[in-house]
Amino acid sequence: MIMSLFKNLVNKLLNIFYPIKCPYCGKIIDNNDSGCAICLAKIRNDGLYKLGLVKVKNKFNEITFISPFRYKGIVRDAIIRFKFRKYRGYAKQFATEISRFISLKFKNNKFDMITYVPLSESRKRQRGYDQAEELAYMIGKKMNLNLCTTLKKIKSNKQQHELKASERAVNVKGVYVALYPELIEGKNILLCDDILTTGNTLMECSKVLYEAGASSVTCVTAAYTDENIRHYDKAF
Ligand SMILES: [Zn+2]
Repeated sequence: MIMSLFKNLVNKLLNIFYPIKCPYCGKIIDNNDSGCAICLAKIRNDGLYKLGLVKVKNKFNEITFISPFRYKGIVRDAIIRFKFRKYRGYAKQFATEISRFISLKFKNNKFDMITYVPLSESRKRQRGYDQAEELAYMIGKKMNLNLCTTLKKIKSNKQQHELKASERAVNVKGVYVALYPELIEGKNILLCDDILTTGNTLMECSKVLYEAGASSVTCVTAAYTDENIRHYDKAF
């Protein structure tokens, strides 16, 4: 009781000195909101808040991808700020929507942990943080899942968005390794990244986790690009 009063007080003070802002327009919002009412309405009206869900079968297993937003308009602008312009705090607002979708779609699914597609160490140093790790941490907090670092990027490769679709699968081959197979074995894993484009990076990371003994891998991202829209629509 005293602890929760204390926690509330700390939160209130933090909100005064470090107010939570709408990731889409910068207006001050409540601690648990994912955006201001105007931006959230705009996102819905513009058709950007649309569940992406698709199952892909490969030779390892079935992989499910889930994502709440289309990567367009003010959502795209906010994700670019989150990823490249040091707005790491947006992870909390994106995680609110992502965890809501996961809970809706996987009512009976018990995940054992959440992990993420890591940046290379040099890119993380350069950026100051790993956006997928930030996102995974906040989703984990909301869903009561431990965040585990299970993958390591061992080779520098070209950024996927710089390449043609046909070059992307080759570009990620052998780039990631599993760090702690004993943590991965037999686990139902939620694998987080920021954006889903062709899915090659997430497929490759899922493959590495399956090879290390994962029982299931479900991929989750904040947004997905239009390249996958038709793909997704089929899944509804
Ligand atoms: Zn707003």
